[in-house]
Amino acid sequence: MRTDEDFLRELELLETFQQLGRITTNKATDAAEVTPKIATREERSTDSKPAVQAAKLAAVPIAIDPARGARIAAMDWAALRTETAACNACGLCKQRKQAVFGVGAETAAWLFIGEGPGESEDQQGEPFVGQAGKLLDAMLAAAGLQRGVEAYIANVVKCRPPGNRTPTLNEAAACAPLLDRQIDLIQPTLIVALGKTAVIRLTGSEASMASMRGKVHSYRSIPVIAMYHPSYLLRSPTEKLKAWEDMLFARSEMVKLALP
Ligand code: SF4
Repeated sequence: MRTDEDFLRELELLETFQQLGRITTNKATDAAEVTPKIATREERSTDSKPAVQAAKLAAVPIAIDPARGARIAAMDWAALRTETAACNACGLCKQRKQAVFGVGAETAAWLFIGEGPGESEDQQGEPFVGQAGKLLDAMLAAAGLQRGVEAYIANVVKCRPPGNRTPTLNEAAACAPLLDRQIDLIQPTLIVALGKTAVIRLTGSEASMASMRGKVHSYRSIPVIAMYHPSYLLRSPTEKLKAWEDMLFARSEMVKLALP
């Protein structure tokens, strides 16, 4: 049986918690609570979800070629992969080695959305590899998840912004039909927006991450939770405590959402 201490160790937080006196026992965590029963896609399609706080802000206004949007909205996984690999809808196509589509179970209940590929991701063709990926894997483990098994991982933009800069709103808008089609195909129970770019893209709010955390937002009628991006957590290790709180919040929300 996994314990809370196991999860804190995976997030490299155990020592910090012990120093703060916030954990003193080896309190076991019920595995069923950590990895709740996940509703099937059919179950998820019924109207059994608890009420989700309605998004108070409109999503980012996206000006796209309607014909391209409609074409992508009708694609299956194979067509979407082909479209993404050959996409030149924004300037990010010019310097990429490859578009980074996403990874994970195509019917995953959890969908994690980051900002965009970095250098390692551009080379390897998979989102969240390298140090940030290692930390994300630890965060997934804290929720009882494994990369590629119960979770799908994608980015707001599929091509690496030069110098790892933040994608522009126009680049995010150009890539939106691809991400939206992924969301529609997966139909996740819960979306975790990692970092400000993903939060803005999904909620339309440019409010601080501090004010967006700990609440349930909504995108395409799917609950959205905001968390700090793993790259930010690597730069600001003390904020990992908040990542732990966010994972507990996400875990509890998923338990509620997975209830029949
Ligand atoms: S970032 Fe998205 S829209 Fe831009 S070229 Fe890559 S796949 Fe196309």
